[in-house]
Order: sequence, then structure tokens, then C-alpha cells
Amino acid sequence: MNLKEIDLEYVLHSYNRNYVNFKNGKNATLFSEDGKEYIDFTSGIGVVSVGHANERLANAICESAKSIIHISNLYLIEPQALLAKKLIERSGYDMRCFFANSGAEANEGAIKIARKYGEVEGEVKRYKIITLKHSFHGRTITALKATGQEKMHNYFGPFPDGFVYAENIEEIPSLCDEKTIAVMIELIQGEGGVEPQDKEKVQNLSKFLKERDILLIVDEVQTGIFRTGELLASNLYEIEPDIITLAKGLGGGVPIGAIMTKLKDIFKPGDHGSTFGGNFLVTKAANEVLDILKEEKESGKLDERFIYFETKTKELAKEFDKIVLKEVGIGFMRGLRIKDLETLNKIVNTSFEKGLLVLKAGRNTLRFLPPLTITKKEMDRGFEILREVLKEVAN
Ligand SMILES: *Cc1c(COP(=O)(O)O)cnc(C)c1O
Repeated sequence: MNLKEIDLEYVLHSYNRNYVNFKNGKNATLFSEDGKEYIDFTSGIGVVSVGHANERLANAICESAKSIIHISNLYLIEPQALLAKKLIERSGYDMRCFFANSGAEANEGAIKIARKYGEVEGEVKRYKIITLKHSFHGRTITALKATGQEKMHNYFGPFPDGFVYAENIEEIPSLCDEKTIAVMIELIQGEGGVEPQDKEKVQNLSKFLKERDILLIVDEVQTGIFRTGELLASNLYEIEPDIITLAKGLGGGVPIGAIMTKLKDIFKPGDHGSTFGGNFLVTKAANEVLDILKEEKESGKLDERFIYFETKTKELAKEFDKIVLKEVGIGFMRGLRIKDLETLNKIVNTSFEKGLLVLKAGRNTLRFLPPLTITKKEMDRGFEILREVLKEVAN
């Protein structure tokens, strides 16, 4: 059997997988087994924030692997404590952290925090959580139910009760009642189609919720860790959520999720936990990722890259306005709305054939999540390919 046959035989078919065999990477470039070069505008769906084979990240991971990888949360974990301090201080929020292993798991923890708060605060038990219809919050049963896309709720019921879906931010207040404990949103919807929320509307919502002691949970699994230019998109929107969840870009590729919350004493020992969460290896890696990206931000390089990428995307949107409806996004969470799904699929497939990795998202969006360290040369090459692709597909 060749590798593809082995994969098809032994791995569950839950992905529409592309059978390219990548052997090596360097920053935003990947090399396949047959020697072909690919420009990576996906960073493994927003994960490889500091690029492939980042020297500093590799050294941090090796150091941990050669001393301690894991000891469990029953003992002090030095890099975990330091990572929590770094995240809190650099975010500017008065919070504490809990570490999980993925975005879905971080969201599960956030929901548990909200539910516990709704149980111990006030006269009536409050448990309802409002989310948005085009949202995406993960694949565990509860995170899936929190995800407002009805098409994802086939097969897996019965689901936990208490989730209510709003069409948009403006509709949320009218759905709040005496049982509502939290609202969970993405500031820029990712899977839902790279859809940034309006800043003023979000600030008004935040104020409305504060007045009613309803918690605001911001799912920053995709928007966090400089993806939108600031450490957190909440910083960009100038709001102070009660709970923030993180994952994707935080570890630069190692699996880590985090919850940050103002409710510093909500959990007592035994209320929540994780065997792997925040172990030596992943928190050592995340510390290094945060330091690398802080330098990229402070040197002005990150913003320079954003501007260059945005200019290039806008140029293409203008040139190919017959198939591109509009350009969307912030920072390195960008996209092009394509006129129909068939054209979008053609673009993604042709890009791959020509050596460019791009993503699809809801609302017929061609989505770009490049590594935050992508070079000008890599961007130039990527856009050169994309231009050829759009030309071909437009004809
Ligand atoms: C990817 C994503 C998740 C799920 O993260 P996993 O690590 O796959 O569990 C949750 N919320 C948002 C906004 C995401 O983009």
C-alpha cells in the first residue's frame, strides 16, 4: 500500500484531505516529497503563527523535550506560570488563565465558568448563552451546540440545553432574558466567512451586558495572538470581556488552548481540569511565540506586512471584479468574497495545483491566514500565483 492507501484504509474519513506529502517547511514556504514548492497562505488554519521551522521556537521545544515535557498540573509548572503572567500583563486585563489543549476545549471551559457564575450569583439560576448564527466555536458536543450554524447540528443530539442564536449583534439584547448568563461572540468571524463586527456595535453590546451582569465571552481562538494586529482583537475593539478564549496561534503549532477571565476565583480545586493542559512543552513554546511576535509588532514589521498584504489583495479584488465581490478582513485574517461556490472551489483547487495554499470559509469566502512572519518575497510569489489563477478562472 502507498501512503494514500494506508491513510484511506486506517484513518476515519472526516476530512476532505488533499494527498500531497509535505516533507519540509521554512517560514511561509512548504516543500512536498516530489520537490514542489508551495506558498502557505493558511499557516495550518491560523496556527503556525511564527512560520514553519522557526529556529527560536524549535530551540524552545527542544529545551523542554530534553528536560521535562510533562509532569501534570499537580505540581508547579514554571513556564505555565510565566506564560499566564505574560498573557495577562501584555493584554492589559485584570484576569487569570486556565490552560487547555484546543479551541473547543477552551470554549467548553469558558461555558463552564459562565454556567457556574450563573449558578452561584443571584437569586435565580441563569444558564442561557447567546451566540451568533454564522459562528464557529468548535467540535465537541457543547461547542458544536454553541456554534450557531444549524447544518452542524445533524446526527449528534441530544445536545445540552440553553443555547440561543442571534442573527447579528443588534439582535442580541432582544434575546436576553432573566435566564441569560452569557453572550459568546467572535469579533471577526473566521469559519463563518472572515466577517469583522462593527466596533461601535460591539462596544454598545458590551455596555448593555455589563449593566445587566451578563457575561461577555469573546472567542479569540482565531483572532487572538496578533492575528488582527494587537495581541487580542478585544484590544483592537477596546472592550473588556469577562472571558476570552485562545488557541490556534498561541503555540505556533503545538496544541494549546487558554481561557482568560476576570472571574478570578470562579473555579475551586476540582471544578475543572486537564491532564495535558498547559504542560512544560506547550507553555515553553507559547512563551517563545509571544516573545517573537512582540518583537515583530514593536519593530513595525508586522504592520508593514499587513499593509502590503492588504494592498495586494485589494489590487486583485479590483482587477478581477467580475468574480470577486469584495475584499474583507483585518490584519492577517483576510479574504475575498467570490461570486459563487463553484468559482471559489475552482480557485482553491487551481491555486493548489500552481503551488499556493489557500482556505475556504463561509459566505463563499476565499480565506487567507498567512504566518505572521511571512516575507515580502513569499507574499509576492503567492500573489503572483493567485493572479494567474484568477485570470484563468475568470475566463
Ligand atoms: C478553530 C476555532 C475553534 C475550534 O478550535 P479547535 O482547536 O479546532 O478545537 C473555535 N473557535 C474559533 C473561533 C475557531 O476559529
